[in-house]
Amino acid sequence: MTTPKVFLLGLDGGTWKVLNRFIEKGLMPNISKIIENGASGTLASTIPYLTPVAWASLLTGVGPGKHRIFGYSVMKNSDGVITGSLANRSKVKVPTVLDIYAQLGKKTISINVPMTYPPRPHDGIIITGLMTPSSESRYYHPPGLIDELRAQGIDYKIDISAARDEETDLDRRLTAYLADGGKRFFNDLHDVTEQRYRTVLYLLENKSWDLFQVNFITMDRIQHYLWKHIWDDSSPAFERIQEHFSLIDEIVGEIYKRIAGDGILVICSDHGFGEYHGNFYPAVWLKQQGYFHEKSPYSARAAIKAILRRLGLSGKIRKALEGSKGSGAKELIYKTASNILWGKTRAYVYSTSGIRINLKGRDQYGIVEPGEEYENLRAELRSKLLALTDGNGKTVMKEVYYVEDLYKVRDTEEEPDLIFEFKDDSFYATYYSVTDAPHYLDKGYSWKQGDHRREGILALAGIGVKAGTRMEASIEDILPTIMFIQDLPQSVMFDGKALVNAFASEFISQRRQPPPRQFSREPLEVHEDEKEDEVIDRLKGLGYI
Ligand SMILES: [Zn+2]
Repeated sequence: MTTPKVFLLGLDGGTWKVLNRFIEKGLMPNISKIIENGASGTLASTIPYLTPVAWASLLTGVGPGKHRIFGYSVMKNSDGVITGSLANRSKVKVPTVLDIYAQLGKKTISINVPMTYPPRPHDGIIITGLMTPSSESRYYHPPGLIDELRAQGIDYKIDISAARDEETDLDRRLTAYLADGGKRFFNDLHDVTEQRYRTVLYLLENKSWDLFQVNFITMDRIQHYLWKHIWDDSSPAFERIQEHFSLIDEIVGEIYKRIAGDGILVICSDHGFGEYHGNFYPAVWLKQQGYFHEKSPYSARAAIKAILRRLGLSGKIRKALEGSKGSGAKELIYKTASNILWGKTRAYVYSTSGIRINLKGRDQYGIVEPGEEYENLRAELRSKLLALTDGNGKTVMKEVYYVEDLYKVRDTEEEPDLIFEFKDDSFYATYYSVTDAPHYLDKGYSWKQGDHRREGILALAGIGVKAGTRMEASIEDILPTIMFIQDLPQSVMFDGKALVNAFASEFISQRRQPPPRQFSREPLEVHEDEKEDEVIDRLKGLGYI
């Protein structure tokens, strides 16, 4: 029996809540058919359920405790100075599917998958996704790829243009972008999706591959900006929303048609989605509770300069960072980290993932004693966060985790001590860089209506899949499942398990299931510092940080 090809189709932010609405309207006949003839269910994302963290797990089959991506940035606390750099593939501490497949001599095509930047020479065919600096960077491989697509009349785009606007104020930038019934947004979205669709069909038919992975961002963007309109048939934006969900269904149908004979289609999300209730500023909360203290603005600026010099950043980025004022995105990972008055601070925000305690012996200017004092402070912060209420007196936190409970393993440098999760029905987006808001919870941005949730989607269809199977899976299970389908040795590192129950018994008995083995990760030589500026701007333009 020949090895089935696997096509992994990512629907960023996909949730059954929304998909079922359009399925019931008869707008997604292809996805309906796939559910009927295949296996489907829910896919639990990582905590926190942020795109870079979730995709790192999807690509590696392990949780954040092993891949070490906890947010949009990766923090280092050394020499009393906290520095942050943006999360990307070079920071992922374990081999990704692309490294593993290269070592097994298997061919991959990877299009727009977050956290695949920077590409490596052994990657096969790749165009990187979110966390790619810009179309000026080396975001694809082999070198002639974009020209080859252009010769086919395909104008590939990394993302929608909101990320490229000049306006630095986030509210003004996105309000303008979404004006006029979202006309510019929808046109952009259509263009990006259409060009990506054509790219996929061209490569699918003209190149040889064992595993093809692609991520479509359509749903994530529509749900972030227009969540309320999804539920309102009379909204002027509703027709365009329907159009886009129909287009996604058409894409799914076309791909499935082309691979169903000798392959398996895996559809999954990186996280789910739900309503957005406003913003939470944990640094403001810590400050108001007396745990966190800042230096005066003047000394903060001096500290930034000192840190930038120390980091040895290029002149261009140093100038940009030194010149920026207020709580701009460029300062996100630098300012919040350098402005701390260590002698008084017992807890502070860390990266874009949680709260860290200023612990003696670990943090250079730590003042909290390890042991009892640390444990008591952690318990105190946890119970205060769990008791946090909104304007109506309703508690908003679902859980506040100790890092070792959540990730099983812990390091002392890169992760926060406490990670919190909002309730599904009172979700607030967390903005870590804001330290000067009047209140730690507010109504948030007018352009934002939806935000991430943990529960996402999963569906499998094709040869060997047992029709009508229902599944409850975790994001770490995806890679082990793909490797089970292709009868490849599992990695000894995997936290996830192959979803064997999704397959017919005959298909299972045909797998040899070779013993698990070790895969390696070649360290990447990257000089990314001068590109970070662009990624931060892009993420800001999309409303992520
Ligand atoms: Zn996402």
